[in-house]
Amino acid sequence: MEQIQTFFGYHKALTQLLHSRDFTGQSKRKKLEALSALCGELLKVDNVSIWTLSFCGHHLDREVLYPLVPADRDQGFRLSRDQHQAYFQALDGAEIICAEAVGTDPRTRSFHSDYPTTSKPVASMLDAPIFDGNRLSGVICLENRQTRHWGLDDIACVTAIADTISLLNTHEAWLSSRKELDYITHHDDFTGLLNLRSLRNHIQQQIEQQTQTSFALLWFDIDRLNAINNGMGQKVGDAVVSEVAARLRGMLLPGKEMVARVGGDEFAMIYRFPSEGTAMEEAVETILETVNYPIRVGEQKVQVSASIGISFFPHDGRDVSTLLRHSESAMYHAKACGRRQAQYYNQDISTTAKARFLLESQLTDAIAHDGLSVFYQPIMSADGSAVVSAEALVRWQHETQGFMSPAEFLPLAYEAGLIADLDLWVLERVCRDIQQSHQRGLPMPPVAVNLSADSIMDPLLADKVWDTLQRYQVLGSQLELEVIEDAIKGDSQVLRRTLEELVRMGIKLSIDDFGTGYSSLLRLKNLPFTKLKIDHSFIQDLPRDPDDCAITLSILGMASGLGLKVVAEGVENGEQQAWLQQQGCDYLQGYKYHKPMPIEAFMALLVNG
Ligand code: C2E
Ligand code: CA
Ligand code: CA
Repeated sequence: MEQIQTFFGYHKALTQLLHSRDFTGQSKRKKLEALSALCGELLKVDNVSIWTLSFCGHHLDREVLYPLVPADRDQGFRLSRDQHQAYFQALDGAEIICAEAVGTDPRTRSFHSDYPTTSKPVASMLDAPIFDGNRLSGVICLENRQTRHWGLDDIACVTAIADTISLLNTHEAWLSSRKELDYITHHDDFTGLLNLRSLRNHIQQQIEQQTQTSFALLWFDIDRLNAINNGMGQKVGDAVVSEVAARLRGMLLPGKEMVARVGGDEFAMIYRFPSEGTAMEEAVETILETVNYPIRVGEQKVQVSASIGISFFPHDGRDVSTLLRHSESAMYHAKACGRRQAQYYNQDISTTAKARFLLESQLTDAIAHDGLSVFYQPIMSADGSAVVSAEALVRWQHETQGFMSPAEFLPLAYEAGLIADLDLWVLERVCRDIQQSHQRGLPMPPVAVNLSADSIMDPLLADKVWDTLQRYQVLGSQLELEVIEDAIKGDSQVLRRTLEELVRMGIKLSIDDFGTGYSSLLRLKNLPFTKLKIDHSFIQDLPRDPDDCAITLSILGMASGLGLKVVAEGVENGEQQAWLQQQGCDYLQGYKYHKPMPIEAFMALLVNG
């Protein structure tokens, strides 16, 4: 009875400690110290220590000792399972070790000789294991230098404290997992930047602030990451994303408030004018310079650039969604204006953006459901008399907007990442037309199909072309592929292999729009192209414009040196033809001979002349 009363007293003291304000706000270590002190004082023992089991379960490390030893004297004692096997086993089995005489109890005998006592050896021990769920996580250990009989009240007290420690541990684990969860919900795990949700929260907080000072929201998109992924591999693409993230994060820019990753290759930044009269243009210039600097990935140097859209609070939007939408559409506008630049939001952009999204989905639909068509433009012999081949040119008859020229919808297809699908669609349609002309016994010269940069960088392009040729029973020699000069710049093994595989199928390769880019002669020599097409901008003013004459002559000279055939594009009159023929141009293409036409008209032309 008396023991029960004593225990009630202990229990009350423990409850008071746990609920005291001093205790609840403390660190875990302080809490353990308070618990061991309480235990020592209530039970009047010489030492109380709390130990933690190492993760592998082989050691117990002393965390806390009562009475408190100054830190420099507490050298963090450690007990090993090997030396105290019986003791560890008892704890594993959840036994309360109640040893009146340490030297004779089999579980504590090992301590008799080897134990961290300062003066007199320990005579009695009362140890209670601490469990976290099913796992032993530590022990609370009471020691007396005199022999002591442990009563039920002592045991009840020490187990209550062991259970309390176990609860503290569980609570701590819960707190840290909540912190982790909090981190995951607010950060992007690939770059460590804040995520879209955090950006939204941050903007919301800014808007709710009484002062409502203005700020800018910048929306970044890495240009052509798709092409980088396809051409140089996913790893390089990933490296580019994480490097851009690091640059944006590390950039020293007064007024930069937060940076977030808001999509695969999209980032956002909140910028607040650091001082009255600071121009946004300067900040934008710094940002573009920082992002556009080439990135080194292993041996390779990747030229990156970003397009940026900017909207202002409160001018361009007074709520989070509007602001985000407007800076994103400004970014699309920057892309449409040629990428690698920043554009500010304005009302016009919003209207174009809406139209764009609609058009984009209609174009996706047109590619998927044969809503496009292909026109053929004949390519003539040097004297303009015979059709030697043809170029396939895509056409789109839009439901409401009528005929749309490629100049209008191809940039959109590029931006929306649809261009490679479009190219394949054209290739497929051309192969089908070739097959049908053969089945009808009609002649069909080789047909040239245009390939975009995205297509030519696709490592699977050769397989896809081969598959299409097979399905329509078309020989490689019936096909030519045109690639614009800019698409083949940069040094990529993938590109070289693709070109070589295409040539092995018997396909001829041409460089399109030659003269508009910056191809080095040496590169051209090393790649398996057999034709150059001189861009029509150089042909237009022949033979009157001396500059164009000089350029065309130098292209012709260079091509003959490299053993390449030359096609002049956009030939519209007899003067141009005469001059080109005289200078040794191999083929001519232009309205002087024929405009692009549907397959039926082209077949009729071939049959009837
Ligand atoms: P391109 O490859 O340089 O094609 C030649 C363009 O010049 C065609 O315009 C053609 O109609 C036009 N043209 C031909 N002769 C003359 C002429 O005497 N005078 C003038 N002023 N123009 C002439 P189109 O069909 O509008 O195509 C424009 C561009 O769109 C093409 O330029 C090509 O880069 C691209 N394109 C067309 N079809 C495809 C396709 O299936 N895939 C890809 N990736 N691009 C395509
Ligand atoms: Ca072309
Ligand atoms: Ca061309």
